Amino acid sequence: MGCTSNQSCGIRYNTASIQLCSLCVWTKAPLDIFSSYFLPDIAPFLEPLERAIADLLVPAITEHVTTQEERDLLELPVRLGGLGLVNPARTASQEYEASVKITGPLVRQIVKQAHEPPDETEIKTLQASARREKDELLKMQCEQVRESLPSKTERAVELATEKGASNWLTVILIKEMNFNLNKREFRDAIKLRYDWEIADLPAMCTCGDLFTVDHAMVCRHGGLIIQRHNEIRDLEAEMLRMVCTDVETEPVLQEITGEELNRGANKAPDARLDVHARGFWDRQQSAFFDVRVCHPNADSYRELSPKQIFQLHENEKKRQYSRRVLEVEQGTFTPLVFTSTGGMADECKRFHSRLAELLALKKGDDYATTISWIRAKVSFAILRSALLCLRGTRSKRKAANISDIDITSESAQARI
Ligand SMILES: [Zn+2]
Repeated sequence: MGCTSNQSCGIRYNTASIQLCSLCVWTKAPLDIFSSYFLPDIAPFLEPLERAIADLLVPAITEHVTTQEERDLLELPVRLGGLGLVNPARTASQEYEASVKITGPLVRQIVKQAHEPPDETEIKTLQASARREKDELLKMQCEQVRESLPSKTERAVELATEKGASNWLTVILIKEMNFNLNKREFRDAIKLRYDWEIADLPAMCTCGDLFTVDHAMVCRHGGLIIQRHNEIRDLEAEMLRMVCTDVETEPVLQEITGEELNRGANKAPDARLDVHARGFWDRQQSAFFDVRVCHPNADSYRELSPKQIFQLHENEKKRQYSRRVLEVEQGTFTPLVFTSTGGMADECKRFHSRLAELLALKKGDDYATTISWIRAKVSFAILRSALLCLRGTRSKRKAANISDIDITSESAQARI
């Protein structure tokens, strides 16, 4: 009888009493090398492996030589800002102790030469307590690591741990689903995640300013910022079409004819919002949405926490449109505020939860799978847009009207 987890850890038992090895249940991501955790005092022997991870593997996949503090950061799980690249030497004894505890009931049965399986409930309790202990340790480790980081990286990690910001790192990179990155995109994405230096960028932007990552995320030259906004608007509209009727992008709002609106409201006769859908929050009711993507490391936000930045934008959008949509359109207004680093404001999170509820109901899938799918889609859209802002061309080429071209004459000129 072997471990029956679908992770094929390769561990076999000579008893039919346990279906999953403690390692699979505990870590959910067993690797063959970790079977050494079944041996005590193994840490020094795993040190060369850690050196290979730190000195060869990490630079090879990130193109960045890490400091010890950065290596400690990459050890953390993705949700805590790391890359889940564990240090086997550091975790060996802790994993071994957990393994001994969890397999304790089975060992007792073997020693007694008993044929009945060990108590399932006891094993589950031991697994839960091991998980809690591991979480506690990780939290402590995370605090220590974050304190040791330079403030620039600490800020980047704070943004990377926003809900939804790391989903692109936890999905399987399937090309057919557009969940794939080439090696430069992957390295750029990692460097953006940690605000590490990207060496091969142009010195100057076409607008005349110095070209830095932060400039790339806010410079409106070349239309890349608008493209980023439209990409996310279109994705949200596409997902809304799966569950709502009357979905339209860029709907024009009705004119104001005497309705009293608040100060700061957008009263322009041709005002548009990003998306309209019917039946989202309530049956048949009109719902309007407006997307905003902001760059949290822009100079004006440097002193603000992500929460403050989100509030700023949500409040501004609501001041402009909430009352007008309610009074004139008799509908609801929801601002969808994102950061260029993949985070989302509260209203935007509620919007995705509701979208997941509706989608799960319609498709007969469970909520957890659906919300993860939405988060992955959004996370990739934001990441791709950030990569486009970073590498996309901003220079204005003279547009040639190709339909007017005389092919014979051009071919002759160019000796084609
Ligand atoms: Zn520029």
